[in-house]
Amino acid sequence: METDEPGLYGLGCATFTQRCQAVKTLIDEHLKPLVVGREASEIQELWNLMYQNAYWRNGPVINNAVAGIDIALWDIKGKMASMPVYQLLGGKCREALTLYRYANGGSREEILDKAQRLWEEGFHHIRLQYMPMNGYPQMQREWKPDGAKDGFYQDPHAYMRETVGLFEHAREKMGFEPEFIHDVHERISISDGICLAKELEPMKLYFLEDLFSPEQVQAYGELKKMVSTPQAYGELCTHPLEWREAVASRSIDYIRIHMSMVGGMTPTVKCAHFCELYDVKTAWHGPTDMNPVGFTAQMHLGLASPNFGIQEWPDYGENIFKVFNGMPEMREGYAYVNERPGFGVEFDEKAAEKFPYRKEVIGWTQFRVTDGSLHRP
Ligand code: MG
Repeated sequence: METDEPGLYGLGCATFTQRCQAVKTLIDEHLKPLVVGREASEIQELWNLMYQNAYWRNGPVINNAVAGIDIALWDIKGKMASMPVYQLLGGKCREALTLYRYANGGSREEILDKAQRLWEEGFHHIRLQYMPMNGYPQMQREWKPDGAKDGFYQDPHAYMRETVGLFEHAREKMGFEPEFIHDVHERISISDGICLAKELEPMKLYFLEDLFSPEQVQAYGELKKMVSTPQAYGELCTHPLEWREAVASRSIDYIRIHMSMVGGMTPTVKCAHFCELYDVKTAWHGPTDMNPVGFTAQMHLGLASPNFGIQEWPDYGENIFKVFNGMPEMREGYAYVNERPGFGVEFDEKAAEKFPYRKEVIGWTQFRVTDGSLHRP
């Protein structure tokens, strides 16, 4: 976002990797004509203008387009004030943010080796996960009917058995001092989810991540009566109606919405404040398909939120550092932002040209169970 003041510009995050061309078109064709010439300092006015201008609203495409501009406006606001954005949010509650990292692998041994290494490097919070994509070790036999379509196949009960075994083994090997996390990615039914949560309860997880989908959010109310393991929810949410009741009823313990998927900094700040009233902590979604500006924006909010809980750290590949600089630094389990005005992250457009957009059909969301039918990833 450029302004009419020389050198004053902002960077945002409108990263919806799976539908990026739709977001680009929406910004270029609809939002740009709407906001050009308006007052950059009026963030609340502009957010509402962009959000409701199409009459029909919401959804990840619209939200990401709005977020790209909204986050850039906060960057501009920080630069206008010559302050890092966390100062505009009320200042620091802490010096750095606690992180969780991934110990992913195809076998129990590989996962636990990685977990041990992270622990020795100073990471207290570690997510244990079979990969690819939260799968499970290779099934002993490939269960699928003749003629079944391509996709990522999973046997939900094999996944549950292997995951419980993984955590039992991890506690035997590493004890109860490390804080362990597991992400279910909403891939099992409600009754299987309740069963898994109960079986994992003795392993004292820091939290269980996204056990249920936004469509089944009411199941957290049932679960809360049966299982004491803290529940983190919400990376797929795109509208406050998907998390508001779960927070107000204290059915979840951590909110983990994704800043660009909900419309940017403006609605995410409101979500953090709402959750604080109910002692629900923040654990914002931090995948690699969020650009470093959006990720850093979440970090600024974390620094200024009394109810910050933990931040997922995206294991960005080396190329991202060739394109962005000023990203938060990670040291021994914590992340630190720089003190530059705004979000303090810069983008090298010339360097980015070396990594053009690749047109492809998304494969990893084509997730199937053993009868060959599609299942939500
Ligand atoms: Mg997740």
